[in-house]
Amino acid sequence: MLRSMPICQFALIDSLCVRLFVLPVLRGHAQTLLSILRPHDVTARSVSDTLNSLMETQDASDSDDCPFCQIVNNQTDTEILLSDDQLVCFRDTTPGATHHYLVIPRTHIDSCRNLQRDNVALVEQMVEMGRSILEKNKVLDDVRMGFHLPPFTSVPHLHLHVLAPASKMVSKSQLRYGPQSHWFITVDKALSQLKTRGKVK
Ligand SMILES: [Zn+2]
Ligand SMILES: [Zn+2]
Repeated sequence: MLRSMPICQFALIDSLCVRLFVLPVLRGHAQTLLSILRPHDVTARSVSDTLNSLMETQDASDSDDCPFCQIVNNQTDTEILLSDDQLVCFRDTTPGATHHYLVIPRTHIDSCRNLQRDNVALVEQMVEMGRSILEKNKVLDDVRMGFHLPPFTSVPHLHLHVLAPASKMVSKSQLRYGPQSHWFITVDKALSQLKTRGKVK
């Protein structure tokens, strides 16, 4: 009976399978991972909403659905600490260190994996803004800056974590923002990869 089924019916069954079984499993995994990492930037609820909409539409570049694009567009009451024509800086809502800021580009870029050699200047400007906000708060050393690597990004809009003092972070934060962890890459390492290979591995 199966053999006589036209191809389109197989395709239909396939897509039903994906909707009914694969996507819920993926969602479950993503949420489990995120609950382990304890999302820092937004609430778990909006993270799972973001994930769901990501998987359903596979288009995160629509600013309506992106919480960080909403911050860029002044659609939230997030306090903007610094900004220029390219970047915006604000506090992480769940700080992993005494000083914990996020610097994001106004243009939506999903993650550091979407960066190209052309973006070196942008990333350097992000670091510069990170330094500025720390200087404003009289922090000059013991700084850690870097990106989360997909799929460990709680918000799919590129954000540079700026943390200090790095050596005084509790072990959970050391794990989440540690240079040795599998889900975090320091900005120095990301920049050197961008310059030599044209992408972040
Ligand atoms: Zn965005
Ligand atoms: Zn992050």
